[in-house]
Amino acid sequence: MTTTLPNIEISEALIRRFDSLGPRYTSYPTADRFDTHFDEHSYIKYLENHEASSTIAPLSIYVHLPFCASICYYCGCNKIITKDHGRSAKYLRYLEKEMAMVASHLHAERNVVQLHLGGGTPTFLSEAELHELMGMLHKYFNFMPDAELGIEIDPRTVNPTMLSMLASLGFNRTSLGVQDFDPAVQKAVNRIQPVEMVEEAIDASRTAGFLSVNFDLIYGLPKQTLQSFSKTLDDVIRLSPDRIALYNYAHLPGRFKPQRRIEESELPSAEERLQIFLMSLRRLLDAGYVYIGLDHFAKPEDDLTKAQEAKSLHRNFQGYTTRAECDLIGLGLSSIGKVGHSYSQSTGILDEYYEQLDAGQLPIKKGFELNMDDVLRRRIIMNFMCSEPINFKAINNTYKIDFLSYFAEELAKLQQYQEAGLINIDSNAITVTPKGRMFVRAVGMVFDKYLQQATSAQYSKLI
Ligand code: SF4
Repeated sequence: MTTTLPNIEISEALIRRFDSLGPRYTSYPTADRFDTHFDEHSYIKYLENHEASSTIAPLSIYVHLPFCASICYYCGCNKIITKDHGRSAKYLRYLEKEMAMVASHLHAERNVVQLHLGGGTPTFLSEAELHELMGMLHKYFNFMPDAELGIEIDPRTVNPTMLSMLASLGFNRTSLGVQDFDPAVQKAVNRIQPVEMVEEAIDASRTAGFLSVNFDLIYGLPKQTLQSFSKTLDDVIRLSPDRIALYNYAHLPGRFKPQRRIEESELPSAEERLQIFLMSLRRLLDAGYVYIGLDHFAKPEDDLTKAQEAKSLHRNFQGYTTRAECDLIGLGLSSIGKVGHSYSQSTGILDEYYEQLDAGQLPIKKGFELNMDDVLRRRIIMNFMCSEPINFKAINNTYKIDFLSYFAEELAKLQQYQEAGLINIDSNAITVTPKGRMFVRAVGMVFDKYLQQATSAQYSKLI
């Protein structure tokens, strides 16, 4: 089968050849390179670095809310399954401790332009708790009036009242975990949410005034077939979310315990997955969605599409974003931050998180300090991920290198991608072609100094 992006054809052969196992590059280096030499003191050094230009960079905040009422078998997130809603009250108290400590190290004039509540299930929290959380965030950080406030929503946990309350708190973006509408698939992954439930959530989000609603879909789940997923797409297209993320399920039961409850014999074969992906790509494009990159689609009038057209697309831990370079403050269990030329990650163990905060310490478990070569490679890889040109002169001026000699080895490796029509290399720049937009991960990997074959088992493929 061949499918068509506007003016280009993506063939199965091309996908088979270039869809390699690899990172999704929400960071570079990737999180598996973080190490424990980076501790609380390293993090504070970056938070307090008032001399660096990063101190005037705006802030993006991610808050991890780990609790979920039930387990989805495909889950690879850091979450805590509990029916005890009392646990979130304690967690909020500790989040406030963490916020107070982080804010005490930040320059007072730094403004927040983006907030994302992820999980777990952020809407596990009660309405009163979500109010309390937003109150804390506003107490410790300065939010810009036009800040983008997003929240991940589990349709099973919300109602119209809660959604309008979220809108009144300033949230303007929601992301709904939809995955698949087929009842047999939902049963096989232990996540039952009829299409009517999701329809009610999207209708209520629109009524409440949310500017953008995203659907997360997953293909490659047990019991999925080409026909069943096509039917799911009928409903998705009818419900018309502004953005769609179409993820490939990575079955790694050795790494993610809940996945051991998935019957391997019920998973679609590699061939079926490829057909499901190509069919989905074709149907979403036919329905008018624009391909943003990797596994993301958006309506033509959505901010992401406009940013892609304006070549101002960015990428961070939440995926593609329209916001320019921000420092990212991670709050809560296992959250990741990016401040200046560093990454940091908090402990993923709840008791440890509480103990460290009780001891007056930030709960940093590991991280990474980037050298100039890392920063340079990060810029190149992120440009690829956003399908932005790599302009040699601009890179040479910023990093005081000669691109052609510095990356002579990488340029030689890129020849095969040029020959396949995925990129163009001329004397000024490397440009991703429309056909190459699906394969930016493979091109970016050429510049990844840390990538080793031995670690590829933990990465997924696009398809
Ligand atoms: S997929 Fe989401 S809702 Fe389901 S268990 Fe994982 S974090 Fe919780």
